[in-house]
Amino acid sequence: MRKRLIVGNWKMNMLRKEAYELARGIAELVGDVSYVDIAVAPPYTSLDVVYGVISNTNIGLCAQNVFWEEAGAFTGEISPYMLIDAGCKWVIVGHSERRTVLGETDEMVKRKVAASIKAGLIPILCVGETLEQRESGKTMEVIRGQLERGLDGIELFSSDSIVIAYEPVWAIGTGRSATPYEAEEVHLFIRNVLDRVFEGIGGKIRVLYGGSVTPENIEDILSPPNIDGVLVGGASLKAESFARIVRLAGRIG
Ligand code: PEP
Repeated sequence: MRKRLIVGNWKMNMLRKEAYELARGIAELVGDVSYVDIAVAPPYTSLDVVYGVISNTNIGLCAQNVFWEEAGAFTGEISPYMLIDAGCKWVIVGHSERRTVLGETDEMVKRKVAASIKAGLIPILCVGETLEQRESGKTMEVIRGQLERGLDGIELFSSDSIVIAYEPVWAIGTGRSATPYEAEEVHLFIRNVLDRVFEGIGGKIRVLYGGSVTPENIEDILSPPNIDGVLVGGASLKAESFARIVRLAGRIG
């Protein structure tokens, strides 16, 4: 069975002191948990303070973005090697907020995925449809396109080298999560695409769900067989609610 992964995406929140306190709270509550994998994704400016708190726990450090070049004249960008140097194991790539607010394309996402894997970072590649796309019956077409273009030419040596996060845009930060049935339908589809793209290892790659996950709905969301964990935004900003999600994720399945 694929081990569950719970990731907290803090987005553009937390000054360094607040990040330190949140990380301490999470570490105290679930720092020794080993029945699921856990990662937190603070903003760049707090990566070091958070790493200082979690480096001796079972919680991994995740960045929210990365650039594809190794070094050079790319003002304002951060390379995969810099993230590894800061203690990161994971990186979120292609979050819908970056796609819609910052114009990130599938081509850029692909470069970020490739550069991360090459450097030894594990990309968490986000895909998801808008409400309009869902309502016009285009969900699977959109997901297939994002996966095929975002993974084009990527070579995987292990199924642990990448994670996919299905995050329906209409469910992110809205309080309206997908139903387990809606999510499972897409997760199964994603697994089939992965199996084709990576010749037979799609069944081993972890596929997370993201979109308004809370301690109240985590048990339902994780009940179908193809949902291997969650990417949590709002509910990861309080140590107690994130810890409850982690503990409940360990009890199910
Ligand atoms: C996210 O930021 O990836 C996310 C899923 O946010 P929220 O849990 O707040 O919907």
